[in-house]
Amino acid sequence: MLKIRVIAIVALTLVVTPAQDYKAEFEEIRASTKLRLWFHESENFVWASGLNAAQTRPCVRAAEKAFSIWKDISGTESWREMWGRKKCLVLIGKSKGEYRKLIRWYGRKHDPYPGFQQAAIPNNYFPNQNKRVAFFMHSRPLDVKTLPYVAAHEVGHLCVWRFSWNQYFVPPWLEEGMGLYLEAKTFNRTRCFCFGGAYGDASGSAEKLFDIAWGKWKETVRKMVRKRSDKQMKTILRLRHNQIGAAEAGKSWSVIDFMVQRDKKKFTRFMRQMKAYWPQKGAPRPDFRPEKQKAQERALKDGFDWTFDELDTEWRAWAKKGMKKIE
Ligand SMILES: [Zn+2]
Repeated sequence: MLKIRVIAIVALTLVVTPAQDYKAEFEEIRASTKLRLWFHESENFVWASGLNAAQTRPCVRAAEKAFSIWKDISGTESWREMWGRKKCLVLIGKSKGEYRKLIRWYGRKHDPYPGFQQAAIPNNYFPNQNKRVAFFMHSRPLDVKTLPYVAAHEVGHLCVWRFSWNQYFVPPWLEEGMGLYLEAKTFNRTRCFCFGGAYGDASGSAEKLFDIAWGKWKETVRKMVRKRSDKQMKTILRLRHNQIGAAEAGKSWSVIDFMVQRDKKKFTRFMRQMKAYWPQKGAPRPDFRPEKQKAQERALKDGFDWTFDELDTEWRAWAKKGMKKIE
């Protein structure tokens, strides 16, 4: 198994994209969209931004920091293990109009899956995990100050999707939880909420949760535990994206925080095994199926030797005691 991984990494290293190819790709985007864009190649990402350098650099720093936190958790050594042959592409529009143009260019060029453009265009930010790994965002109606948070958050989504990559949907609690967790680890506060059916929509019902310090989040989650009003993980792991509200999202990032602190190697094993056990027949389907529950249960057993009820018990005890650092 290890041998296969080593060979795969060596093979990927041999096909590494030279810098001038990123520049050529950028020129193509610029010619096709006719937008004024700023080009930048950072350690793990490539940027084409309708904002200027000074406005975009905080996003670069946020994405790089979030990715370095992920690397530390997962033992990932290089972006190639996560993104494939090319660094993750980040396309930033100055407005919704620019965002739409960037999405259309990408959709025509890479055609990632049927319905991609229809799915991406109504949102304000969007990750794409297959073919050319990328994420998209724009600075309205969110302000420029929110974009770095979005960047860290989207990196979280992509890490869950891409780790031990398969094209089938990942559990929304893990995807959303990791987005919020990396955002919180990067900034000590979160400004995003894709959950509650409000994907990237600052005017959605989750408005109260916009721009919240991590300490405040923790307090809210602890209150939930004390009142025993938190849903069991067995329930949360079945939820679809639009069924995840603030309470479920709050528990999700906190459970991830707990698992990572408890033992990041065990957490990584849980993630890897879950991908291996995930149902992979037929077309990718976002809906819940019993096999998806089974896959998560088996993976948690492999990783931590827990059932989801045992995870609940352990997590609740830790949360009640103040979510203190686990030495
Ligand atoms: Zn999200």
